Amino acid sequence: MELDVVTSEEGAAEVTRRVTSGVNDAAQSTPERGRGIRAKKAMLLSGVFLTLFGLASSTKEFLGCITLPIDGIFYMFGTTSHIALAFFLDISKYFIMAGVFLTVTSLIFFYPFRPDAKLNVHFKKWNTWKKRRLVFQFFVLSLIMLHIGLVALGKSKVPSICPLSFAELGNAGVFGASALFWASIFALVFVFGRALCGWACVYTPVQEQATNVLKAIGKSPTKKKIGKKWIIYVLTALFWTSFVVNVAKNARSLSFGWANGLDVGTYWLFFSGLLTIFPITVLLTHYLGSRFFCKYLCPLGGTMSIYNKFGLLKMRLHKEKCTDCQLCAANCQMGVDIPKYAAAGSRSIADGNCIVCGDCVDVCPKDAITFAFGR
Ligand code: SF4
Ligand code: SF4
Repeated sequence: MELDVVTSEEGAAEVTRRVTSGVNDAAQSTPERGRGIRAKKAMLLSGVFLTLFGLASSTKEFLGCITLPIDGIFYMFGTTSHIALAFFLDISKYFIMAGVFLTVTSLIFFYPFRPDAKLNVHFKKWNTWKKRRLVFQFFVLSLIMLHIGLVALGKSKVPSICPLSFAELGNAGVFGASALFWASIFALVFVFGRALCGWACVYTPVQEQATNVLKAIGKSPTKKKIGKKWIIYVLTALFWTSFVVNVAKNARSLSFGWANGLDVGTYWLFFSGLLTIFPITVLLTHYLGSRFFCKYLCPLGGTMSIYNKFGLLKMRLHKEKCTDCQLCAANCQMGVDIPKYAAAGSRSIADGNCIVCGDCVDVCPKDAITFAFGR
C-alpha cells in the first residue's frame, strides 16, 4: 500500500483547500445549483423526446394515434388525414437531428448531472390480475402478428381491424363494415364495461409496461391529476361530430364494402412502431400519469366513459369489509376514487373511468372488491 506523507503545512493547506471547496460546493448546492441540474436534465429529456418523436413520426402506428381524434376534420374539408401524415413524415428527420444534437451534447458535456446520482433497478413482483392481463394482452398482440403474417403470405385479404381504419372507412362513406364495428364496440361495452380498454386495446400493454419500467427504475407515474378533464370530451366531440358530418355528406352513396380502410402493416412497421412508441410512453407516463392516453386523449375512451356505468361487468364493493385503507385508490391506474364509492354505500364502482382491470382486487387486503356481473 502506498502512503502519502505530508508535512503539517501541506496538511493544513489541504484542509483549507477542502474546506474552501466544501464551502464552494455548499454555495453551489443552493437553488442555483438545483436550477442548473434541472436545466441539464431538461435538455437531455428534450433531446431524447425529440429523437423518439422523430423516429415515431416516421411510423404509421404513431401517426395514426395522433391523427385519430382529428381524422374526420380533414374529410369535412374535402381532403384526408394523409396530408398530415405526409407532413409529419417529411419533418420527422428534423426532429431526429435536433433530438440527437441535444442528447449527445448534454451527455458529453453535462453527464453525470450529480456525481452522487445512482440508478436503483429492481423489479417488483406482479400479482394475479396483472399477470392474467399481461397474458391476455400478449395473446391480442399475437393475433395481430398472425394477421400481419397471413396477409404478407397472401393467405388473408381481411383489411386492417383497428378503430382508425373503421373511422377512415366511415369518413370516406364506406359505412357498412364501419357501422358493424362501432355497433359491436357499443354492445361489448354494455356487457363487459370498459374491459376493451383494460384488456384488449393494443396500446394497453405499452402503457402498462411503461408504468412497470418507471417503477423498476425507482420512478413513478405522477399522481397529480391534470385538471383539464374536458380535453378528452372535446376530442371525443371532434371525433364523432366530424364522423357524423362525413357520413351525412355521403348519405346517398354509402356502401357496405371493406375496401379503402388502412392497409395491414408489415412486421417492420409493427415492431418499429412499438419500439418507438414505448420510450415516449414511458416519458409521458412519468409526467402525465399512468394511462394518460385513456384518461385524457382517446376519443373511444371518452365515448365509453360516458356510458360505461351501464355495463354489466362491474367491480363489486363489499362495504362491510372495507377499512378505508386507501390502498385500492393508490393503485388504480385510472385514478378512480374507490373508497368514495364504498363510503357512499354503492354496490359497485359505477365510475366512467373504471376499466375493470382488477388491480384494486389484487391490492385490497380485506377482499372488499370482486368482479361481478349485473347491477
Ligand atoms: S377501479 Fe379497480 S378495476 Fe377499475 S380501473 Fe381502478 S383498479 Fe382497475
Ligand atoms: S383496499 Fe379494500 S379495504 Fe382498503 S379502501 Fe380499498 S376497498 Fe377498502
